[in-house]
Amino acid sequence: MDWQNGLIRDMVKPEYLIVSSELGVAIADKFPKAMHHYLVLPTADIPSIFVLNRSHLPLLGELYRLARNAVEKKGVPWEDFQVGFHAEPSLHRLHLHVISTDFVSPSLKTKKHWNCHNTELFVPYEKLYKQLEKDNCFSRFPKSLVKELLAKPLVCNQCEFASDSLLNLKTHLLNHWQCKEDERKESTKLDNITKMMNEAKLDTKMMPLCHNQGSKNPFQLPPKQQAVKECANHKLDLSTTEMIQRNNPPFNFQAMNPLKSNNAPRYPQHHGSRPIWNGPSFPPFQHQINYRYPMLNGFRGPSNIIQHGFPHYPNQTFVGPGAWPSGQQSGVRSKSIPRNYQQNQNQQNAQQNSNLQHLTHNVNRNQQNKNQNKKATKPINQPSGNLHDQEATAPPP
Ligand code: AMP
Ligand code: ZN
Repeated sequence: MDWQNGLIRDMVKPEYLIVSSELGVAIADKFPKAMHHYLVLPTADIPSIFVLNRSHLPLLGELYRLARNAVEKKGVPWEDFQVGFHAEPSLHRLHLHVISTDFVSPSLKTKKHWNCHNTELFVPYEKLYKQLEKDNCFSRFPKSLVKELLAKPLVCNQCEFASDSLLNLKTHLLNHWQCKEDERKESTKLDNITKMMNEAKLDTKMMPLCHNQGSKNPFQLPPKQQAVKECANHKLDLSTTEMIQRNNPPFNFQAMNPLKSNNAPRYPQHHGSRPIWNGPSFPPFQHQINYRYPMLNGFRGPSNIIQHGFPHYPNQTFVGPGAWPSGQQSGVRSKSIPRNYQQNQNQQNAQQNSNLQHLTHNVNRNQQNKNQNKKATKPINQPSGNLHDQEATAPPP
């Protein structure tokens, strides 16, 4: 059958070639099942793994070296690859698969494509090498085993994910690849920055001029006068241009440094708006009113409109609209409470008071009589009594 000789026909075509040696050739797979998929074939006519024995071990070593060279030439990390043989190959000529483990490819179309690379049907290079060393041959799998392995559920090669649908698996694999790409981009960025910083540190010409060599900041250069002095000490002859360059690091470095004093904002103490005139302070209309004018923005109680249930603030919190100074600021307990709150309280207390009035009146009268009778002196700690107390103890009209 001609299609089985497709590899033999194409392995000599220059458009497929990646690297070659006397003993073998690495070519691109015509229907790659991953982002990177290469095949390494011997130039000698070796039909398949089933004819291999110990004598082929050096040749296998050469195929492996070609695989590494091909990956290196493509500029892809070797760790991203799996390298091995199909236990049930379909095409003639022994061929080593060198395939990246992302398995992101439109050519990955069937369950067989997945399982022949991700079950025991894929024989890693090291495994075959050891088996040849030990047994001097590699035997075909029984047909039933091949069938069983091909029918295995689709399990992700990078996590526990399993699915019966190849489409689901492919979407999942694409996610893995996307995440890895993002990570790779981030680490490349970091590497570049580190490299840039290391290069700056290793600038030996600059080092003698740095007055802060122990410092971690390689960009902090000495002032010009210091440079001139050190220049003389080190017997260095610096041109004016060089001097300027050394005192002004490149723009990309400047961006990572704090602002120099002559670039600093003119009014560092004001982080908000700038004055519109050139004077040393803000004009009055630009003052930020963050202190409290009495009567205007003193503490206000809960809204007049929303008054469900008991107010959210304790009595001590309220500062009357006319309070001066505010109880909040002076730490003095307020002498008045909001009008509506007082009204509510009055209404609530009205009934109570009327009940108490009679009783209180009697109590007061009894007390007065007692005082008169005993001619007692005025007590030292007379309770001051608040508004409620006064209301509650007030004599009836
Ligand atoms: P297998 O025989 O199962 O180990 O795999 C044969 C591999 O060769 C598959 O990955 C195919 O995509 C690939 N292939 C088929 N025809 C060609 C060709 N003409 N040139 C290069 N690769 C091919
Ligand atoms: Zn996964």
